[in-house]
Parts: sequence; C-alpha cells; structure tokens
Amino acid sequence: MTTKKLREVMRKLRKRVPTDKPIRVIRRPYPVEINEFMGYCIEGRPGYRVIVNSNLSPEMQVETLLHEYAHALCWPGQLEVGRIEAHDSLWGIAYARTFRAYYEEISRKERNY
Ligand SMILES: [Zn+2]
Repeated sequence: MTTKKLREVMRKLRKRVPTDKPIRVIRRPYPVEINEFMGYCIEGRPGYRVIVNSNLSPEMQVETLLHEYAHALCWPGQLEVGRIEAHDSLWGIAYARTFRAYYEEISRKERNY
C-alpha cells in the first residue's frame, strides 16, 4: 500500500459519498502492537485529516480509511477518541455508505469483474 494508492481510494470515495469539507489522508508509521493503533480522523484546516497507520497490512489500511472516512461523513460531534459514542448508529450508516461505495466502485474493478 502506498500513499498514492490510498489517495486514489479517497478520490473515488469523494465522488460517491462526498463530505461537507475536503479530506486529506496521511499515512504515518506507528507501532502496531501499541493499542492496536490503526488511525484517526480530526478536523483540520480547511477540512478533515485522516491518519492511517502505514505499518498495517494494505487491507487494514483501506479498512482504516473507510472507518475514518465514515467519521468525517457524520462530523461534527463524532470525535474519534475511542468513545463508544463515536460509533453510534449515525456513524454506522455513514460506514455502510462508505463501505458500499468502496465495494461497488473500487474493489469490484480491482477484481476485474
Ligand atoms: Zn472510529
């Protein structure tokens, strides 16, 4: 997984499930064994920033991006700080929309269907 590849996923997500503000994805290496750290979403300027742990497997980096993208979709009030409330039904719907967009727009083409 490269930053370029993850940004390509982002571009396609934006088309299918646009957010109210731009999202920038950043890959950074973190020790995977520490709290199983995967990533987070914060409100930056002028939009959102999604941080993805680049030490994860390629599949888990995409999964983390989808998860964090869903947080941006149902911002504000969905700060990713490990609270269970951050993963309520509103986030669940946002995640379903994000996952479906990924599945239909991206993974299908990669499988050459
Ligand atoms: Zn989360």
